[in-house]
Amino acid sequence: MQKGTIGVTTENIFPVIKKFLYSDHEIFLRELVSNAVDATQKIRTLAGFGEFKGELGTLDVRVTVDKEAGTLTVSDHGIGMDADDLNKYINQIAFSGAEEFLAKYKDSANSIIGHFGLGFYSAFMVAKKVVINSLSYKEGAEAVRWVCDGSPEYTMGKGDRAERGTDIILYIDDDSKQFLEQARIDTLLKKYCRFLPVPVISGKEQEWKDGKMVDTDKDKVINATAPLWLKKPSELTDDDYLKFYHELYPGQDGPLFWIHLNVDYPFTLTGVLFFPKLKDNFEVTKNRIQLYCNQVFVTDSVEGVVPEFMMLLQGVIDSPDIPLNVSRSYLQSDTAVKKISGYITKKVSSRLNELFTADRAAFEKKWDDIKIFIEYGMLTDEKFCDAAMKFMLLRDTEARYFTPEEYRKLVEASQTDRNGDVVYLYTTDPEAQHNYIQGAVSRGYDVLLLDGRLDSHFVGLLEQKLEKTRLVRVDSGSVDSLIDKGDKKQLGISPLQVNELSTVFRSQLPQMKQAQFMVEFEAMGEGALPVMLTKNEYMTRMKAMAAMQPGMDFYAELPDNYNLVVNTDHPVVERIAREASEALDAEVKPLSDSIEACNARIEQLRKDAPEGKLDAEGEKQVAELEKQVAELEKQVADERSRMEKLEADYAAGKPVVKQLIDLALLQAGLLKGEALSSFVSRSVEML
Ligand code: ADP
Repeated sequence: MQKGTIGVTTENIFPVIKKFLYSDHEIFLRELVSNAVDATQKIRTLAGFGEFKGELGTLDVRVTVDKEAGTLTVSDHGIGMDADDLNKYINQIAFSGAEEFLAKYKDSANSIIGHFGLGFYSAFMVAKKVVINSLSYKEGAEAVRWVCDGSPEYTMGKGDRAERGTDIILYIDDDSKQFLEQARIDTLLKKYCRFLPVPVISGKEQEWKDGKMVDTDKDKVINATAPLWLKKPSELTDDDYLKFYHELYPGQDGPLFWIHLNVDYPFTLTGVLFFPKLKDNFEVTKNRIQLYCNQVFVTDSVEGVVPEFMMLLQGVIDSPDIPLNVSRSYLQSDTAVKKISGYITKKVSSRLNELFTADRAAFEKKWDDIKIFIEYGMLTDEKFCDAAMKFMLLRDTEARYFTPEEYRKLVEASQTDRNGDVVYLYTTDPEAQHNYIQGAVSRGYDVLLLDGRLDSHFVGLLEQKLEKTRLVRVDSGSVDSLIDKGDKKQLGISPLQVNELSTVFRSQLPQMKQAQFMVEFEAMGEGALPVMLTKNEYMTRMKAMAAMQPGMDFYAELPDNYNLVVNTDHPVVERIAREASEALDAEVKPLSDSIEACNARIEQLRKDAPEGKLDAEGEKQVAELEKQVAELEKQVADERSRMEKLEADYAAGKPVVKQLIDLALLQAGLLKGEALSSFVSRSVEML
């Protein structure tokens, strides 16, 4: 009987393993089963090379729970180990720098296990004693039994295993009793082992009998040993992919399409990516790609391995080249990982391009469901963005789809402004902006529908990517000002009338916390509405973007900026202007003339003021001038407020002004509550 101390340079690794690795205890099972599978693969390989000539027998791995004995056993018929192997592989572990490392990665069992190559020792996360019973494949090998109770001391002696292979017996700790439940073990095996290349058996198949589920005699095989992603695409049908998808994601709608990945140089990677229907709820679909390393499930949080936008996809990536046992920040800077990520991006964009070219109509049908994915990709990945310009689609309000190039051809002739910029009009809400859309359409313009969650960001991206192009929201101005062709009509009213009407309308605008208004005049033609509200485009975009970004609440709290655009061509406005003129001119004109004269005088005084280095006389002169300016400014302020009072008092007696404003508010969805009620009763009165 050999006795010894495991080659640990740090005082005692076991308490450390137990204490620190609290979060992912369950992965011990993955480690033990993978070791068993590896040992099985090795004997197969040796047999293939003729180095092992005996009977292979049934090559499976069994996981057995014995609740009474309190043990969990993983058995295989692999190559087994003799005393030398145990000394070499199990008894000698070098934990150099262990303490430092453990302190750093104490939350990640993966990192620790990978770092020390101590898959086997993870058994001590859940076991108080571990026994290895093994018989090596080597000719004349003797069975060995190794026992360790969780201290660095072990014993190793003659064993009694008669068949080639290894049993790892775990005496489960009191605080880990959950691992003695067959159901828990089934769940874990399903999670980590369902695609392992050797059959993994645990428990029995069950059947329904006498009103309950009971065990049958049949062994329950956990895994599919030849997963779909390892097969050749040419040998697979659509049904195979769909079936696989539903196995991975039960209870979900089928995918729109998929991409089979397969590379062996300069790295090895296989897998299948599925495009789910995304709509706008992309948060819930994150983290659904599963990462495997040689068919062993590792994680479904693939951050850093695939580009961020790919996390909206589903499926499987299997690669031995992704360093799985390291921290995330390391992953992101790893060159192999960068290459992999770049490869996946390229593959996805070329597949999308293929689908687009092969069957445009089918692609258009799927567009609304994948749009958010493509936009997200374009916004976050420069290379993908450039590739996507060829197949991304713009949808207009008539549900027609165009590539950016096609769309330019469509609107270039009619929607180019005086500076030669092509203006793309868009709506974010066809219901609320119906009137504005109609106005644009009746002018022969086309309007794009950009109502997706990412569209406020996307608008900016399109402007960057498309040369000499501006995107303008359809409700951000009157039809004439949306696309300024330099042929704006002159106003039909005098500057004095503009002055009067400004206050007449401004004084009747509501006071709102979340909205600010300005008054503007435009000759929009008799046929256009008398008034309309337009919304400042820049602010609207900033606010929409702020709503999606943490730390930008500042914008969200700012009020919306609106312009009340008054159409001076409309007969009602003409009448209001004429009547205001008749009632106000006599008093307003002298005030307005005087204000004008004062302002001219102020300007002149400022011009005459001596400049440069001043002597005492000069300074006196300046002081005198400033006094005069101040007096004039006071006069202007007085006269202005008198004038505005006259105008506002007049406006207060003109319900038609209020009525027009309310109509504009109503159209923009801003007339609510009490204001809406008084609008209704005022309308009735006016009838
Ligand atoms: P790793 O698997 O990362 O090498 P482990 O601590 O899990 O680290 O295992 C150490 C070594 O012990 C393995 O490389 C293998 O040689 C041997 N080993 C572990 N389990 C078995 C087994 N069931 N059958 C044969 N050899 C095994």
